[in-house]
Amino acid sequence: METILLGDSEADLNRAAELIKNGGIVGIPTETVYGLGADASNPDAVKRIFEAKGRPADNPLIVHLSDFSQAEKYTTSIPELARRIADRFCPGPLTIVLPKNDMIPMITSGGLYTVGIRVPSHSVMHRIIELSGCPIAAPSANTSGLPSPTSAAHVMDDMAGKIEAVVDGGQSEFGVESTVISVENESSVRILRPGSVTKDMLLEICGEVIIDHAILHELEDGQTAASPGMKYKHYSPKADVVMIEGNIKAFTEYVENHMENGVYSLIYDGDTECFPYQYMTYGRNSSEQAHWIFQRLRELDEIGAKKVFVRAPAVDGVGLAVYNRLIRAAGFEVIRL
Ligand code: AMP
Ligand code: MG
Repeated sequence: METILLGDSEADLNRAAELIKNGGIVGIPTETVYGLGADASNPDAVKRIFEAKGRPADNPLIVHLSDFSQAEKYTTSIPELARRIADRFCPGPLTIVLPKNDMIPMITSGGLYTVGIRVPSHSVMHRIIELSGCPIAAPSANTSGLPSPTSAAHVMDDMAGKIEAVVDGGQSEFGVESTVISVENESSVRILRPGSVTKDMLLEICGEVIIDHAILHELEDGQTAASPGMKYKHYSPKADVVMIEGNIKAFTEYVENHMENGVYSLIYDGDTECFPYQYMTYGRNSSEQAHWIFQRLRELDEIGAKKVFVRAPAVDGVGLAVYNRLIRAAGFEVIRL
């Protein structure tokens, strides 16, 4: 199959929407990362998403709507707290897990009786949902296990020949996937996957925000994940990633003592002055690091890095999302200096 590259003109968005209506799969830009979009209510189309990504069947897809009011159509009940959160954060990089109804096939929800609902703010994604009239299932548009795509070129790298089209909407703004939450009770939510909507932002609306244990810790044998995606090794380039916590002086000493062929370091923009080894940088603060992390992991593969020492990001604010992705890219290999 030839994968066509579309732009963001109304004619091209119409074409993308038509493809989706007819059971096709299209790479679509969103404000978080690029998604692989198909009609969420069409089991055959959704099956093709799992095949194109090589995604495990028990890893649920998020369903994207153009307005949160449409969630009524796909769920059995919406708690009051979920409505208040949606009022504040939708459209935006937030997914709310709700009990699903029969409009969402089990293949879409990875066998769960719940569905993650998101209302994206990106104008291209928003328009394609409107034009197609479909709820759009859209996981990140990468091959399962590889870093998520933040540009149309990344999607082409992974998906050319497997999907109908990719819509180029420029570089993703946030760079990490949406925050996924479930509602625990009338005042409390649980963060299942951290993203750009942070704990502190949610605390403006909720009495309590629980950070799920699996966000920072490896699941033990037999433990089940509240968020199935968290149990897989994920986001990894081919290079062996090692995350190192500590200041730049300690980091530099560590690299010096563990230097070998093909080693690159991924450090902060402000770290470079006295750093004598091969490196790339990924920003000065957590939001910049979220924006660049996946792009840098892909670039490190392109230049043939064998091993990457990453200077760990802060674990608060958006930094928690960056840390969560990196700890999985590193297969939980963290050195604490
Ligand atoms: P991705 O599609 O790559 O952005 O990953 C979506 C992730 O959201 C999954 O891997 C799950 O961890 C999480 N998720 C989606 N739907 C649900 C759900 N119904 N319950 C819990 N977690 C979910
Ligand atoms: Mg993903």
